[in-house]
Amino acid sequence: MGQVMQAIALVDLDDTLFQTIRKCPPDIPHDRLTPLGFAADGSPLSYATPRQMRFIQWLAETTHLVPVTARSLDALRRAHIPFTAAVCAHGGVVLDDTGAVDPEWEAIITGKAAQYADELAGLAEAISAEAAAQNVTINARVLMEGELPLYTLAKHTDMDHDALFAVVDAAVPSLPLGWTDHRNGNNVALMPPYLGKEHAVAHILPGLRARFPDAPVIGIGDSLTDAPFMALCDYAMMPPRSQLAGTMFHGG
Ligand SMILES: [Mg+2]
Repeated sequence: MGQVMQAIALVDLDDTLFQTIRKCPPDIPHDRLTPLGFAADGSPLSYATPRQMRFIQWLAETTHLVPVTARSLDALRRAHIPFTAAVCAHGGVVLDDTGAVDPEWEAIITGKAAQYADELAGLAEAISAEAAAQNVTINARVLMEGELPLYTLAKHTDMDHDALFAVVDAAVPSLPLGWTDHRNGNNVALMPPYLGKEHAVAHILPGLRARFPDAPVIGIGDSLTDAPFMALCDYAMMPPRSQLAGTMFHGG
């Protein structure tokens, strides 16, 4: 945290502060990109442009910066962003201001996750079966955070988004009420009702408001699934070339 804490920034990471090399602006030479996200083996996966680096520095110096990410706790820790508190796993895990897992939120999520374990596994099986029937290679699985089943994730092994969406549409023609079907790029996440960044943000906001009473809260994100948590903030910010901005500035 910087010397002058002016605001609270609740910030999505991937495609907001950095992105894969494929999504980096083509006019920026590779040697000007800074690797910030790393695979488990230490190899770089995600890069920030010089302007994104300056933006991160500005946020780090002037705000109480809280990542709000779909990343698992492990993947979050492999992102080189200055933070202690965080929301990760689409809201399934909250880290408190010491960087420890918030036990209260963990208890809430654990109680709810148990009710959905079979349904999540069933969705992954249905997608795998449909992929086999269509002769498409898709990795569908239940995303776990430790022992906790959180959501069903499907990815096409060759990044063919259209084929991925067609398989999921056929395998899961509709979701029960309250579920979220999050699609962005080569990702389909089917999330049960309790899971969502906005629920975790609603859990941490009262504490942040009490600690920094007059600090404006800025929500920053790129995806449609970021919108509900951004709506809980005082200001919302997004990259203009993003899924979320696409719906506002370019008519979807
Ligand atoms: Mg994002």
